[in-house]
Amino acid sequence: MAKVPITVAYGDGIGPEIMDATLRIITEAGAELEIETIEIGEKVYLRGNTAGIEPQSWESLTRTKVFLKAPITTPQGGGFKSLNVTTRKVLGLYANVRPCVAYDPYVRTKHPGMDVVIVRENEEDLYAGIEHRQTADVYQCLKLITRPGTEKIVRYAFEYARAHGRKKVTCFAKDNIMKMTDGIFHSIFDSIGAEYPDIEKEMWIVDIGAAKLADTPQVFDVVVMPNLYGDILSDVAAQIAGSVGLAGSCNIGDHCAMFEAIHGSAPRRAGQNLANPSGLLLGAVLMLNHIGQGDVAARVHNAWLYTLEQGIHTYDIYQDGISKQKVGTKEFADAVIRHLGKVPNELKAVDYSKSKPMQPIRPSSPPKPTKQLVGVDIFLDWSAGKPNDLGTLLTPITAGNLKLNVISNRGVKVFPGGLTETFCVDHWRCRFMADGNSVQPTHIVELMQKLISQGFDVIKTENLYTFNGENGFSAVQGH
Ligand code: NAD
Repeated sequence: MAKVPITVAYGDGIGPEIMDATLRIITEAGAELEIETIEIGEKVYLRGNTAGIEPQSWESLTRTKVFLKAPITTPQGGGFKSLNVTTRKVLGLYANVRPCVAYDPYVRTKHPGMDVVIVRENEEDLYAGIEHRQTADVYQCLKLITRPGTEKIVRYAFEYARAHGRKKVTCFAKDNIMKMTDGIFHSIFDSIGAEYPDIEKEMWIVDIGAAKLADTPQVFDVVVMPNLYGDILSDVAAQIAGSVGLAGSCNIGDHCAMFEAIHGSAPRRAGQNLANPSGLLLGAVLMLNHIGQGDVAARVHNAWLYTLEQGIHTYDIYQDGISKQKVGTKEFADAVIRHLGKVPNELKAVDYSKSKPMQPIRPSSPPKPTKQLVGVDIFLDWSAGKPNDLGTLLTPITAGNLKLNVISNRGVKVFPGGLTETFCVDHWRCRFMADGNSVQPTHIVELMQKLISQGFDVIKTENLYTFNGENGFSAVQGH
């Protein structure tokens, strides 16, 4: 078998110890790898590089396209950028996949039988990092959900389920509130799901879905969700399965992929031969599958399961009465190596020979919808009176066919006919519509000029469009 080039980073804290253990095990198991090492993390940050990675390291990553990464320490204090977020964005790693499995009765868990894979969208949502302070009172963060981004992650979840013999894909979203952003995520889940009749589909509103996941994770199989919910719930799922020290994850893109443990660099445990290498080892198992060495992946995974069954445990999962031998990182790796070729007796043995390689996922290219400008939301920083005062001032201001339709504060209608009880801040969304008549962009400019000339502080505008006749904007609450 030809050797596959991969890029390896040993990271910080317990990183070098668990990476040594992992590489030793997978090499002994027969992995055919050509390893290139790069330096990332604390030392690079402290040399004044705020990204935590040297520019030349990208050359290795974009050439090998496979990154096995140990955890790093992000120094305290401002200015340091998250290397994980940077790597995901630069390499376009849109899917974060985290299998969360319980290993009862060998590792204590509240949820025997749990075996859930969280598929988290990795690039969009509130993580675009587009935030603004708009007034003395108001800060905003843009939540961006795109059609192609959602198509890719949802299709990835279904393809993953098929490739791994999984039976059900569940979608978590909050489209009862965010009807457009989470709404498109849900509707794409429904339409792509229809292409997979062999797989059961279900949808949960994220809040009650999260409660169900924490209470009865056994009812879930593959769960796909937007970035923020996935960030939070993938940690919850890993923790309730047994231990964050046991979970690996991968970040998959069209061109590159990154594999890691989900835990951090645990600096207090570093250099003492204490750390559990299992999370990174399971990350490496995902990597071996990804590069087409599924037989080696299964050999490693089964030997690792067998080692857990033998009660050979690192301190973090050691338990009197269940564990037989407390070992350090090196001795744990030695035990897994000794057990290569064994399969577990009670824990479910893995077989990756039937896993099909994942094909690159391409979003669809539907015809562009007909887009029509029908109005504008103009946001004002204003604190000179009550909502009715603002409504009275704005009503006479028109441009082309645009005239005031409604004013809201924090999304709730306050004019015309608002309630005096509604709490207001200094941030007013003033919606101007054309009652079905045409709107020219120049009318919006004219409207803004009139507002500014009358002393209003215009802080932002959002054009209101219809797409194939359907509103591309949410209604005002209470309007
Ligand atoms: P952590 O996951 O490093 O450690 C939390 C605790 O979990 C540790 O004190 C230790 O008791 C235990 N633990 C974690 N991994 C273990 C293992 N393999 N074996 C045994 N015990 C283990 O989280 P933290 O203390 O919040 O963060 C430490 C550093 O790691 C921070 O600088 C943080 O920014 C960084 N971090 C990096 C990554 C990453 O590189 N992917 C992820 C999370 C945190």
